[in-house]
Amino acid sequence: MGSLLLIRYGEIALKGKNRPFFEKKLLQNIKESLLGLEPYRVLFHRGRYYVEIAEDNLFPARRRLERVFGIVSLSPVFTAELDLEDICRQALILLKDNYEPGMTFKINTRRANKKFPGTSPEISSHVGAYLLKSGLQLKVDVHNPEVSINIEIRNEEAYLYTQSFPGSGGLPVGVTGRGLLLLSGGIDSPVAGWMTLKRGVHIEALHFHSPPFTGDNALNKVIDLCRLLAAYCGKITLHLAPFTEIQKEIRLQCPESMLITLMRRTMLRVAERLAKKRNIPVIFTGENLGQVASQTLENLIAIDEATALPILRPLVGFDKEEIIEISHKINSFPISVRPFDDCCTLFVPKHPITRPTVEELQNAEEKLPLKELVDRCLNTIQTKQITAYERV
Ligand code: ATP
Ligand code: MG
Repeated sequence: MGSLLLIRYGEIALKGKNRPFFEKKLLQNIKESLLGLEPYRVLFHRGRYYVEIAEDNLFPARRRLERVFGIVSLSPVFTAELDLEDICRQALILLKDNYEPGMTFKINTRRANKKFPGTSPEISSHVGAYLLKSGLQLKVDVHNPEVSINIEIRNEEAYLYTQSFPGSGGLPVGVTGRGLLLLSGGIDSPVAGWMTLKRGVHIEALHFHSPPFTGDNALNKVIDLCRLLAAYCGKITLHLAPFTEIQKEIRLQCPESMLITLMRRTMLRVAERLAKKRNIPVIFTGENLGQVASQTLENLIAIDEATALPILRPLVGFDKEEIIEISHKINSFPISVRPFDDCCTLFVPKHPITRPTVEELQNAEEKLPLKELVDRCLNTIQTKQITAYERV
């Protein structure tokens, strides 16, 4: 038999009739995350998942599972026969792995198999006494131990573990629904994508690029950001929309101060059409409030007006420092700061409009062949499936 990982999920999210749906989705996501690490087996028992996998694959499996949303923590597990002496021997091996002279420990036993003789406290004290006689320098501390050895007596064997690694929390991707993420190459939108996935929404990503002004480097940046997000959800469908013509038309026909807001409104029109085609009911962006001139409340309201679909902005309550902190945590930061232009960093107006009215924007848009521009952009979208680096 191979090695085992025990997986715990958040109980609070599981109340009520959604529970089986949630558990099934998490099981599916766990299995999907392990693709390429075969052979493995995933078991579900009494509200926990157990992954049986070859010893060599234990570490990569743990790393992948740490990114599966819905998982709260993970523990590598030792197995013992259903025999108190074997349990003692395995407990000693486990303890030696973490041993330092003078160390304090505690045993917690869970006796799921009621046929196994002795109560849980009796088993704990028997194993504790065995460890104290082992010749190692140990002390029992039931309140604040340096090492807790957990023993689960199950029907076929006993499980022992000490370590717990934190998972990513959140909800299993897919349980909430699907969303379209507007993904730039910046710091914010990948973080917004990660937060969207964390709440159980599976995303497709839409990126606008402006060849030849934005080159392959800028495109690779977005692909790398997608790969990174894909480690949290299996794979991501990335839509690449050429924006050069739209951008040129707006620059030519409309006041410079409105450039960013009008570009954003047009992006949303394309996004809405794409979302409808893909049967996606909501758009997510990395917009924040007040961070840049184009993100005043008036600009956000004006951007909303361009689409009938709801726009959710997961970052709206964060300071920039908090967003950067998450981007470091998920490792998107080093990709986001690669110095390649995005279509929105080209031709930035000196004085962007901060308090536009919808009416003045609509007046400016009258000069644009909007329907044709959006149609052409939509018809030339390229779509790619992006998988995580380590799963390729
Ligand atoms: P980001 O770091 O995500 O680029 P930002 O603070 O730089 O955000 P803007 O560049 O004004 O802000 O972009 C606001 C949002 O608009 C982005 O978070 C993203 O959702 C969307 N967006 C901007 N540029 C693009 C693009 N080229 N393709 C797709 N979406 C974009
Ligand atoms: Mg940006």
